[in-house]
Amino acid sequence: MSASDEDLGLYVHIPFCRRRCHFCAFYLEIARSDRMALFHSALIQEISLYYRQELWNGRTLRTIYFGGGTPTSLPAEQLAALLALIRATWPTDGTAEITVEAHPSSVTVRDLTILADAGFNRISFGAESMADMDLVSIGRFGRVQDTAAAVQAARRAGFENINLDLMYGLPGQSLQNWMHTLESLMTLAPSHISCYALTIEKDTRLAQDIARDLVRPPDEVLQIDMEAAAEHFLGEAGFSRYEISNYARPDYACR
Ligand code: SF4
Repeated sequence: MSASDEDLGLYVHIPFCRRRCHFCAFYLEIARSDRMALFHSALIQEISLYYRQELWNGRTLRTIYFGGGTPTSLPAEQLAALLALIRATWPTDGTAEITVEAHPSSVTVRDLTILADAGFNRISFGAESMADMDLVSIGRFGRVQDTAAAVQAARRAGFENINLDLMYGLPGQSLQNWMHTLESLMTLAPSHISCYALTIEKDTRLAQDIARDLVRPPDEVLQIDMEAAAEHFLGEAGFSRYEISNYARPDYACR
């Protein structure tokens, strides 16, 4: 929760993923339905505990963010029920920004329709790259075509505010490949794009592969060039950079 009197936000962390990406050092659990069912029940109890602590002092929620992990590891019905419980528990601004993160390969039009109908009005897909070879190099399941399909499905479900997360400086990725990813992304017309430089975290699969000389470490000079190229390209395409990693079309900066 944020501390400002005017701007209260709630972050709900869903720590499940189908499998661990090679660069990922976040706490997570591999998605298993029995574990997720337990987690869902525990989350309902935790919401009730927070409610009893009366931290809110009559203030209104202006943002709600379901992040992960991969929140859409949970069935869409459970995410919808959690959001309904949150909104029934605390006063929520009618124009609140309500985001859910999703893996493009983990959602169907039906899921997305349930989420949009439940009140989620912003979706953030972990696209990472628009080149299949990059997804393979970081151990990410799914294909580039899943991202395109997920964005189309989200629009059909009613989402207008769509973010795509990207990473740059991936193993074997050239500046030209990175530009190709940015150009391909434009055909999907997202409202927001986040660009993160790959960093190597201790004890990850990628760190081990680098230590064994199986993969080259990220080239920091190349990453700086990629960052500058993204800022220029996205600026020309109508996105403004309003935070280190974040670019938005007018009126779509994440709250
Ligand atoms: S989807 Fe995100 S949280 Fe899950 S393993 Fe990959 S990087 Fe980590």
